[in-house]
Amino acid sequence: MEQQKIILPNLKCLRCGHNWTPRQEIVGVCPKCKSAYWDKTEAELIKADVKTIKNEQIPQKTPSLEPQGRVKRRKRGKDGK
Ligand SMILES: [Zn+2]
Repeated sequence: MEQQKIILPNLKCLRCGHNWTPRQEIVGVCPKCKSAYWDKTEAELIKADVKTIKNEQIPQKTPSLEPQGRVKRRKRGKDGK
């Protein structure tokens, strides 16, 4: 049997300097600092649209307007895994 070897490059986060080997081809965020712009230098960030950066700063916490209780429960289509 032929062994398929996928060699993934070592990646380095330009934000925090963290080095890691990704397990998937598409790396969304740095596993350490969770920055989506780990592969962007500051210069690139500035060049990029500022609006894009703003998106990252949207807090992911749920707003306090949420009524307590069932909000987080989502019905899963098939037999619940
Ligand atoms: Zn990082």
